[in-house]
Amino acid sequence: MAESASTGERVRVRVPGKINLALCVGPRRPDGFHDLATVFQSVSLADELTATPAPAGVVTVEVAGADAALVGPAEDNLAVRAARLLAATYAPDAGAHLQIVKGIPVAGGMAGGSADAAAALLACDRLWGLDVGTEALLDLAARLGSDVPFTAMGGTAVGHGRGERLRPVRVDHVFHWVLVTSGTGLSTPAVFRRFDELHPPQDVADPQIPDGLLEALQAGDPVALAATLRNDLAEPALDLRPDLGATLGAGTELGALGGLLSGSGPTCAFLAADAEHARALADGFRTRGVGRDIHVVEAPGSIGFPHAGRG
Ligand code: ATP
Repeated sequence: MAESASTGERVRVRVPGKINLALCVGPRRPDGFHDLATVFQSVSLADELTATPAPAGVVTVEVAGADAALVGPAEDNLAVRAARLLAATYAPDAGAHLQIVKGIPVAGGMAGGSADAAAALLACDRLWGLDVGTEALLDLAARLGSDVPFTAMGGTAVGHGRGERLRPVRVDHVFHWVLVTSGTGLSTPAVFRRFDELHPPQDVADPQIPDGLLEALQAGDPVALAATLRNDLAEPALDLRPDLGATLGAGTELGALGGLLSGSGPTCAFLAADAEHARALADGFRTRGVGRDIHVVEAPGSIGFPHAGRG
């Protein structure tokens, strides 16, 4: 889980963003969502959320960081919705002020809003002295969004359903990635809509995790992992944003072991052989002027999970 610390009446949670090593999309369900088979992994690029007390029934938010201006109004902030849901369920008289420092790109396919929702659940649970337990928090998380349970949990996990049905996977090896962000966000619902336009339901098979992916992760073998990376949302995302093809192509030319879109994009993630290779790749992207920001990250991210709750 996220790393958290509390000092008196202040609870701070660092919560990592994620990439999907596989994002396999199945048929559209009657409820409008798609069945997914996905492998989530946290990366060492995080948001920080601090919760402090506020008057009864009041939840406010303040957002800082490079992308702060791109986050919508407080009423729509997923962290506010999460704190309100926790209060409505367990502590109707509670209030909190949330300060968020964004490190995860906004609308970047890295579940930044979901991470903040997870952080708000964890932080307010402690701030309000509720101790509702992991299962109850994950239950609320699933009601807030498909990616919220994973961001509350962190590490590595296989996800099914909308991505909310999780099976943690133990990975003792660290992988080195370069993330290339884009100056313009991409809407996840728009990418799924394009997927549906490109693929009539009868042509979409039940989603499966690619053979060998979990074995490569557990063996710490980046070359084998690169051969199994897969993202079914790449085609519709590139259809909406052809410029991302040039970013992915640059990764291949620069010698990345593999590259793919993170979630629904537009962030692109490139797998390196080791830390030195990742730094060299990052320099290559910077020299070519590809993307907006270039981040060298580790996965699973060294953010201190599994650790959360009181203490
Ligand atoms: P996902 O991959 O989970 O679909 P994403 O990483 O592509 O999401 P987010 O950064 O979560 O995208 O932002 C998606 C939308 O959510 C943005 O348009 C943003 O305005 C809104 N949003 C609401 N709350 C937040 C938040 N706390 N941080 C970032 N964006 C938020």
